Amino acid sequence: MDFDDTADEAAYRAGVRELLDQHAAELVRLDSGEEAADAAQQERALRQTQRVLAEAGLVGVSWSREHGGQAGTLAQQAIVNQELARARVPTLINHIGLGMCGPTVVAHGTPAQHEKYLARLLRADDVWCQLFSEPASGSDLAALRTTAVLDGDEWVVNGQKVWTTLAHVADYGILLTRTDPDRPKHAGLTMFVVDMHAPGVTVRPLKQLGGQSDFNEVFFDDVLIADSERLGEPGEGWRVALTTLLNERVAVGGGGNDLGLSIESLATLARDRVPQLPPDRQVLARQAVGRASVAALANRYTGYRRYTAISRGGLPGPEASAGKLAGTAAAKLVADAGVRLLGDDAVYSRGPDSDDGRWQRNQAWLPGIAIAGGTDEVLRNIIGERVLGLPPEPREDKTAPFNAGSRS
Ligand SMILES: Cc1cc2nc3c(=O)[nH]c(=O)nc-3n(C[C@H](O)[C@H](O)[C@H](O)COP(=O)(O)OP(=O)(O)OC[C@H]3O[C@@H](n4cnc5c(N)ncnc54)[C@H](O)[C@@H]3O)c2cc1C
Repeated sequence: MDFDDTADEAAYRAGVRELLDQHAAELVRLDSGEEAADAAQQERALRQTQRVLAEAGLVGVSWSREHGGQAGTLAQQAIVNQELARARVPTLINHIGLGMCGPTVVAHGTPAQHEKYLARLLRADDVWCQLFSEPASGSDLAALRTTAVLDGDEWVVNGQKVWTTLAHVADYGILLTRTDPDRPKHAGLTMFVVDMHAPGVTVRPLKQLGGQSDFNEVFFDDVLIADSERLGEPGEGWRVALTTLLNERVAVGGGGNDLGLSIESLATLARDRVPQLPPDRQVLARQAVGRASVAALANRYTGYRRYTAISRGGLPGPEASAGKLAGTAAAKLVADAGVRLLGDDAVYSRGPDSDDGRWQRNQAWLPGIAIAGGTDEVLRNIIGERVLGLPPEPREDKTAPFNAGSRS
């Protein structure tokens, strides 16, 4: 891949910058100094930001026109992502909808579901969440226990999910359930779209160490879901979930975007901070910055190569897992180097949205990203088995009926 913009890409980038300038006053910015009075106001502002960007043609760039997108290339999507970061626009509020739920609805939904959901998802008229993990099934997702039982043309859902990012603001979710406990664990699952405002859905935010609540517990008590809201066939939920998970690993680490703060921001910080250090510590600081930059650059370029393969018609495969693994590791090195450069000043910050706390926040946030969407250990297993062809882990429960043995 050529790492410089082609003439077309440079023209596209200039157009994106112009659109972002035109709409500057309507967009939320990181560290704008205009902090929202409360969470509800912040949510409204973030929804409005995504709506403005969608109307300007900057959301769902690589989605087909049929699904409300711009039918652009993945390289154009990467350019938009880079320019949004450059303009200090925060992560889009519907990032889970865009990265994971939307592609799953596109791949497995009916034309009626496409019509009902996709355009509204792109505009953040509806925010989406992903309801997979449960208290006793994270890495071993196929062991989940939330049940859906068919009653006429509706399914009755009971159970609990946990760590559901954005459930507290979400309008819809994709929900993985067990519909046939007599079949082996992977074969008895079915996926649905669930209305998060339906009777029987209770969302309880989980408070994090930093004071914020990004994710939630979600309880389902006799929640009714119409059969027309099923995604894929009954019993095909695992196949549908794999679409979501592969897209998640690409969205998180596989696209060549810096996961945390960019190498360029680290270089700016280092130019400012290194000369202030005693000479012996200057050497160590330069080495830390160098190590982090090499890892982040390697990840960025590997991601571009993957993008090129996908844009030539390939699908995200098991290699996407390597992208998330390498991307998280590189981002952690960058954040650690930034916090080291700040030295004693790292204990101060003006508040959760201020620029001067961003190195510390990244350092605190990245270990969670190394867990979400498949932990580092699980991704190493996938790489070992599916990319390198090593012998698989023994999985005795793979073929037995789910309700056999200790689970019944
Ligand atoms: C920031 C964040 C956001 C999240 N958002 C969502 C969301 O929106 N929706 C959702 O459904 N879930 C979400 N999750 C949950 C996430 O998917 C799970 O936390 C993750 O899959 C791990 O599951 P677990 O927490 O149950 O840990 P466990 O699966 O219990 O793992 C515990 C430890 O054992 C290790 N381990 C487990 N199995 C193996 C194995 N076979 N080989 C080697 N080591 C193993 C793991 O690596 C880990 O270190 C989120 C998590 C985080 C941190």
